[in-house]
Amino acid sequence: MSCHDIGRGMNDVVRRVISLYDSDRIGLEEAKTIIATCAGAVNWCDGNEAEALDYIEGCRCGKCLRMVPKDDKLYGLGQLYNVLNYEQFMAKHQTIFGLRVCSECFDSIIDAEDKIPASGAELRKSIEDRMSNTPEYFLSTGTHAATNNGCRW
Ligand SMILES: [Zn+2]
Repeated sequence: MSCHDIGRGMNDVVRRVISLYDSDRIGLEEAKTIIATCAGAVNWCDGNEAEALDYIEGCRCGKCLRMVPKDDKLYGLGQLYNVLNYEQFMAKHQTIFGLRVCSECFDSIIDAEDKIPASGAELRKSIEDRMSNTPEYFLSTGTHAATNNGCRW
């Protein structure tokens, strides 16, 4: 049975990091480094990385950290597991593992990869077609999570 408390604790740190980033008190790379560290830190206990990212998972791009407006698109990169060394790929493109990316970042990532035989736009269309019955998988909530993994802040 996994521990949910460490995920909630790290998610609270992520929330503070986003607040500092949005008020220009820390830069993009610093914010991404701390957020990625929070996700990995849940492994000091039997935690879940997704719980550490709960505050921003629905609405922020994992590469540029932009708040994506409600119902604009966010695309997962998980489908590329079979194409590339996924961890190297995420590091190369400075994308936080576990977060989806905005359309612009998705296209810039895909179009920079020679080993992917499709354009970013083609892959985005295929994701939308494949997930047309579950559009929440590629739509932004446009807002941060109102709770910490279901618990009051
Ligand atoms: Zn982006």
